[in-house]
Amino acid sequence: MLSLSDRYFALIVPLCVLLLAAALVGCWAALRYQRHQRYLLWLAAGYALSAIGLGWQSLLDSAQFARWAPVTGLLYLGGAWSLAQGMAGRYGCSAHPRIALLLGAVVLGALYYYGHVQDRLLVRMHWLNLGLGLVQVLPMYGILRSKPPSDRLERTLRGSFLVFACYTMVRPVLILLLVPGLQGSDIPRSGYWLITLAGSLIFALWFTMLLVACTVRDVFTTLREERNHDPLTQLLNRRAFMEGAKSILGAPRSAPWAVVAGDIDHFKQVNDRWGHACGDQVLQSVSEVLRQQVRKGDLVARFGGEEFVLLLRASLQEAETVVQRMRQQLASAEVLALPNGRQVTLSFGIAQLPSAQQLTQALSRADVLLYEAKQAGRNRVHVDAEVPGGAAVSKERAGDL
Ligand code: GH3
Ligand code: MG
Ligand code: MG
Repeated sequence: MLSLSDRYFALIVPLCVLLLAAALVGCWAALRYQRHQRYLLWLAAGYALSAIGLGWQSLLDSAQFARWAPVTGLLYLGGAWSLAQGMAGRYGCSAHPRIALLLGAVVLGALYYYGHVQDRLLVRMHWLNLGLGLVQVLPMYGILRSKPPSDRLERTLRGSFLVFACYTMVRPVLILLLVPGLQGSDIPRSGYWLITLAGSLIFALWFTMLLVACTVRDVFTTLREERNHDPLTQLLNRRAFMEGAKSILGAPRSAPWAVVAGDIDHFKQVNDRWGHACGDQVLQSVSEVLRQQVRKGDLVARFGGEEFVLLLRASLQEAETVVQRMRQQLASAEVLALPNGRQVTLSFGIAQLPSAQQLTQALSRADVLLYEAKQAGRNRVHVDAEVPGGAAVSKERAGDL
């Protein structure tokens, strides 16, 4: 039998795991406003249930182990499924609750039989650990099929979870190879139990560290996204556009670049006639069209109000073709049909960007051309036209008005 102090000492590992569960709850509480962080609660529940099971078994003797096997088994299975559900929640897939229930019922039946009808400790251990491992791998197919890991941290998190699930399945075989002679010994004082506790603690520490690192990284990614994007249209804002443009233009691969300034025509009337909410929808539809028409590597930004700026990797002529396509699509009834069949149009100015240093001048030039397009009647594209001698004049491509 364990002495009273030994028994309390054996509780150290479950208590540590409980503390780690509390740390995950703390992480969730700090990020409660981000709904997708709810998976942390499932993981915390997984730690807590497993810790209660470990703590309880640490206080039992071998005879009681058999009697309580179905109950502690239920705690472990609940813990394993909560961990699986937490991981599934992080990657937006399913932890297959029905299959887990079926597996759980079979394992609990086996634990009851080999605890109450025949007392077979080793058989119980194999059933339980195989069941726990299988429950943990349930979401693995979905996790591996979800979007590929963005970095090494994410890969390590997924890999660690898979390794732990596999280790759980073969844990009894592995540990008994290391520490033979379990039969007849007092389990909570056996080498098997100590290695099981140590393994659980090491995994919980390692996994919590990875989770906290991933959560901190997620928070910074979200903050950066929020800092760089306009919340209504999800386009880049002015600051992100300027930063992005400078970094793209600074790259050694030179290319012809064009800057486009676009502005919705008579947008104030849209708001005045159909309300601000309708105006917001128009802004979102316009943004969607602009985004669809550009190529990967081009930049699309909302500079404020109903003004948009684009950086296109294209000559003036190519840029004009792209922008005319945008203008026509925007003016088509399917995209921006307003009540009474009214349509929303945009005017554009396109300027060439000879070098990164001339970004500000090119933006001003595109603005001037846009202003000219407005003056000329709106729903049209004005393009810089290079003339021999270097001076630029504007040429107009009117829309089908
Ligand atoms: P023009 O053809 O000369 O560009 O005329 P306009 O009416 O489009 O231009 P004006 O500058 O007079 O009006 C711009 C309007 O855009 C005024 C403002 O209420 C509206 N606006 C700016 N930001 C938003 C927004 O986020 N949502 C909505 N719904 N309206 C906005
Ligand atoms: Mg306008
Ligand atoms: Mg404007």
